[in-house]
Amino acid sequence: MNAAVMGLRTLVLNADYQPLSWAPLSAWTWQQALVAVMQDRVTQVETYDDVLIHTARQTFEVPAVVVLKEYKKRKHVPFTRYNVFLRDEFRCQYCGAKLPANELTFDHVIPRSRSGQSSWENIVSACGPDNMKKANRTPSEAHMKLLRAPYRPTPQDLDRIARKMPLVKGELHNTWLDYLYWSAEIEA
Ligand SMILES: [Zn+2]
Repeated sequence: MNAAVMGLRTLVLNADYQPLSWAPLSAWTWQQALVAVMQDRVTQVETYDDVLIHTARQTFEVPAVVVLKEYKKRKHVPFTRYNVFLRDEFRCQYCGAKLPANELTFDHVIPRSRSGQSSWENIVSACGPDNMKKANRTPSEAHMKLLRAPYRPTPQDLDRIARKMPLVKGELHNTWLDYLYWSAEIEA
């Protein structure tokens, strides 16, 4: 089996045919997907053409897209750097600049030195200069205005935001596009 086949991924859709998550886009290794197909936990809706896996007894198609048989309820959103930036649409919440993750910082709205918590409700994405400028002050003390009060997002909130962010077409197999096309922007 060649390396390209080994690295194939399977798009995983919830029972409503929407990706299980948008950011990151839910995908399994094809080996995980194949096991789920055999365990009858998912339905295979697309396969990779011209790729067959032969074992001593059987031949398998490689799943490209699978759908969960049972709708999976979405749990709370983990409080991670990526998810905070995603909630804020990768924009500095003071000047509105849209920046790559490595140019964004975390700002404690109520500074840590004043007992501000590291929580969804007190952390915003900020560009370096604005973070420096604000320093150990509240936004009103620094005469800086937040674009929006920080909040705890639901999985649906993050999906809605992630769908507006372009997917990189090179990373998507063409069998996936039918399932993503209608709700996502796709960039070449
Ligand atoms: Zn800024």
